[in-house]
Formats: sequence, C-alpha cells, structure tokens
Amino acid sequence: MKKRNNILLVAVSFLIVLSAVGVVMYKGNDAAGANEKSENLIVLIGDGMGPPQITLSRLYAQEYNDLDQLKIDDYLVGTNSTHADNSPESNESGLVTDSAASGTAFATGNKTYNGAVSVTNEEVAKPVGSVLEAAKAAGKGTGLISTARITHATPAVYASHVRSRDNEDAIAQQYLDAEIDVLIGGGERHFVSSEKDAIFGEAAREDELNLVEDFKENGYAIAHNKEELLQVEGDRVLGLLADTHVPYNLDREGDTIPSLKEQLETAISVLEKNEEGFVIMLEGGRIDHAGHANDIHSIVQEMLEFDEAFAAAVEYAEKEGDTSVIATADHETGGLTIGRDNIYDAYLDVFEPVTASSEKIGLELADAKSEADIKDIVKEYTGIDDLSEDEVELIMSGNLLDGEPSSYEREGSFNAMMAKRSAIGWTGHGHTGVDVGVYGYGPAAEQLQGFNDNTDFAKAGAQALGLDMDKVSKTLQESYVYPKYLMTESDTYLFPVDALSETFNFEVEKEQNSFTINGNNVDITVKNDVEKVEIDGTAYEVQIDQDQLYIPIELIDSLAKENLTWDELSERIVIE
Ligand SMILES: [Zn+2]
Repeated sequence: MKKRNNILLVAVSFLIVLSAVGVVMYKGNDAAGANEKSENLIVLIGDGMGPPQITLSRLYAQEYNDLDQLKIDDYLVGTNSTHADNSPESNESGLVTDSAASGTAFATGNKTYNGAVSVTNEEVAKPVGSVLEAAKAAGKGTGLISTARITHATPAVYASHVRSRDNEDAIAQQYLDAEIDVLIGGGERHFVSSEKDAIFGEAAREDELNLVEDFKENGYAIAHNKEELLQVEGDRVLGLLADTHVPYNLDREGDTIPSLKEQLETAISVLEKNEEGFVIMLEGGRIDHAGHANDIHSIVQEMLEFDEAFAAAVEYAEKEGDTSVIATADHETGGLTIGRDNIYDAYLDVFEPVTASSEKIGLELADAKSEADIKDIVKEYTGIDDLSEDEVELIMSGNLLDGEPSSYEREGSFNAMMAKRSAIGWTGHGHTGVDVGVYGYGPAAEQLQGFNDNTDFAKAGAQALGLDMDKVSKTLQESYVYPKYLMTESDTYLFPVDALSETFNFEVEKEQNSFTINGNNVDITVKNDVEKVEIDGTAYEVQIDQDQLYIPIELIDSLAKENLTWDELSERIVIE
C-alpha cells in the first residue's frame, strides 16, 4: 500500500511537470511562429560585454549579491560575430570592430568600416536606415538611452548618419531633426556651445547653437537628474545627466542619477502612449570604458546595472506581450580572462572592497608625489595595506607588467596590480574580435537562435515588427551622400570628381595635361597645373591629389541635374 502511494505520487508529480513543460512549450511555439509579430522592440546593448564580462559578473553576483545567476543568463539564445568591414585608409582588415561599425551592423544590417555611423563603406558613402528609423517612419515612438554620451557611437548608429563617429555635434543636431522622442544619457556638452547654457559646466559645440533650447521649443521636457527625469510628463523627453559620460556606478554620489532600469521605465511610460508601439535602444556604455581601462570592479558594477535593466525589459515584455526584447554586445573589450599565470582560480575578494572607479583613483595617483602617497591612495580606495615595493614602483612608473608604458599611465599600472592580485587577465586596452552572446525574448529573439552575424540582429528586430529598413535607406539616399573630401588652406571644401561623377551622372575625361568634365550642358576643363579655374567670371579653387581632381560644391552642383548644397556640420551633400 505504501509503495502504491509512492507510485501515485510520482505519477502525479510527473503530470505536473508535464503540464508545466506544456505551458512553456506553448509559449515558446507561440513566439516562434513565423508570422508572429511584436508591436514593441526593446534592444539592449552592453558595450564591451563579451562572454568573460558576463561570467565575471555572474561569479561576483553569486558570491556577494546572493544571486544564482544573472537575469540575462536565463535568456541566452545564441551568439553574434562582431567583425567590421575593412578600412583601407587605416590599413585594417576589420577583424576587430569598433562600436560604430558594429553598431551600424546590428542597427541597420550593413557592414561598414570602423568609425562609420550608419553610412556605407564607399568613397561616396550612402546613409543606411536603422530599425529605429524604420519604426519612426511607421509612426512608432522611439527612444535612445545610454550611460555614455548620448551622441556616442552606439546610440548614434540608430538615428544619425556621419562619416566619423567623432562628429558628435552633428549627431546631436540629427537627433533633433529626426525627432527621436526620448533621449536619455550623458553628453550635454554637444548640445550647448556656451558654458553659461551648460548645467554641468562644459560646452563643446563648435557652432553657436543651443540645441537644448531647440528641443524645448519642439515640445521636449528637459531633465538633468533623477528627480526631474522621474516626474517628466508629455510625449518627448531629453534627459542630459552629465557633461560627458554618466559617472560610473562606483563614483555616483547621492541619489541624483537614475539607474538604467529607471531610465528604461521612464522611456516606456512616455512611449507606450503611442498606439502604434515603440522601439527603444538602451546601452550600458561604460562596461566598455571600464574594459579599456582594465577596471575589474567597474565592469562588474556596470554589468549589474545593465542586467537589472534587462530584467525590467523582459518583465515588461512578459507582462504586456506584443514586445520583443533582444540584447547583445558590440564586441568584447580588454581581452578579459578569469584565471592567469597558471592559477586555476580567481580572487574576487581582492577587488570587491574597491570603492571607486580606477578613473577616479587614477586621477589621485597621477598627482601622487611619493611612494607613501601611492600607498595611502591605494589603501583608501581598496583596503590593500601591504603593497610590495615592486607594486609601488610599478604604479609610480605608469607601466604595465611587461615594462611597456600603459596608455592609461598610473591608472593602467594600478589596474595591472589589481588584476595580478585577483588572478584576472587582460590582453590590452583595446577591443578584441571574439563572438558575443545574443539574449532575448519574443519573436525577434526566436529568429536569433544559434550563431548569427551581427547584421542578422538588426534584421530580426525589423522583421518581428514588420518594419522596412530598405525603404528608410532609399529615402535617406535620395537626400544625402557622404563623399570623402579635401580642405584647402583657405578652408574650402573640395570633392572628388571621379567618385561623384557616378553618383550625379556626369562625364569625366582625364587627358595628359587636363581633366574635361561634362554634365547638365556644362563643360569644365581643368589643367593639371592650375589651382583655380574661372567660370562665368568667378574663380574656383581646385586641387589634384593622387591623380584625382577635387572641385568645390558649386561646380559639382552645376554639373549635376539635382540641386546640391554642402552641409558642413554633418559633412554631407544635400540633394534637393
Ligand atoms: Zn570601446
């Protein structure tokens, strides 16, 4: 009798397990349906969040935060390759990507060169549309969030187009023109040109503009801290939380900076009023910065903040339905490893007590005058009170363990010391070319199972929402081209005739001593040895560089059938 009871119990629990599996399977099958669509998409990018960054943060969370694993671990679906397209000018194969090229791939589905923000890898580059711009075109709400400057490469690839990621003034202007509904991040300095307009004190715009005022006039609520952000009302928000990047978690004082989770929740509450749905991209931007510096504890803290935001995204999707969540990294940063020097262990307790980012500690180390100063600073921020003579010397030297100078100077040496003590390894201060994880929930994630190229990531998001990125690209390409150019000593922009002749349909003939150009019933002859040509009484500067003729926009305009002007800020030709 007793035995039968047991069998019955086993049978009952087997049934319970089966029905639970049934529910999960139904949910999975439902999401996997080929025609299944989402209305909303939340994309989360951990900049520099390679596999070791995840492992290290999980180990830390298990040890110190009483977690079984990270939230993101539950939603692993596949991997992304990360490589860029080749960059002939810098003589790089593209094997190791930067954030701009990788971002262009996972935002638009196009490979490009390192440094490019959603433009193609051509002498006359073309703009390519992102999933977020396609959402805008479809009437959906749009939002960008980052702990880096909001004009940094990862947010930029979703809503702007420039040849160089360094052109952050243009990126801010393009956000305004594109009417992105929610923008939250650092980087106030690229929105203002005068220090008196800068809440955080720094102004970096090289023109005279105050874009914050322009955003206000366009109906945006402006927020500069947590309190202001959490009480915004209306349909549009510009949250600028710092002059440059938002401070590392370890350096945040008081409670003035909203967490990424709070920023995401704010964005959702603003955008979900749109009946067509929304697309949000959220970036944990400083995981990468900590990786560059080799700052172990900051990586962990930035990762944990990102994981909390990921948890909030999937919680929303699971509760509301109609929402796909996909997450990945643009690349790994630093060549992080767990275990080193043949030690089969890692000592998290070495860096767990650290109370500031190495960026902050490094500023004090840079000012240290003596070995005693170094010991005091290290003790204050890490609790380490037994620095060896060799370690003190290393930090004083600004070198890495191999004796070569660190590009991070004493901060780099300090981190090298911390890594050695923790049995954590780094291969350098740059990016690496390894694959990264893909995580997610809902129809977009279902398409990303197994191994993907990072271009697939953009396409999966667009397909799950029924968005047409090609249409956006076509519209953009009808309005803009991004040629390479020269600048003369008198600051005149000159453009390559050969490359632009294909774009604008005119003829160029190169003869022994001259170029003859013909188009739109205009003939121009330029002798090889002249610096100016005169046309209709006006003199124009021209230049020959490496056998290529460069002429000003006025002449390109006269040769083309379209009306062309040069947009100096965004460094592009505008076609009217
Ligand atoms: Zn980076």
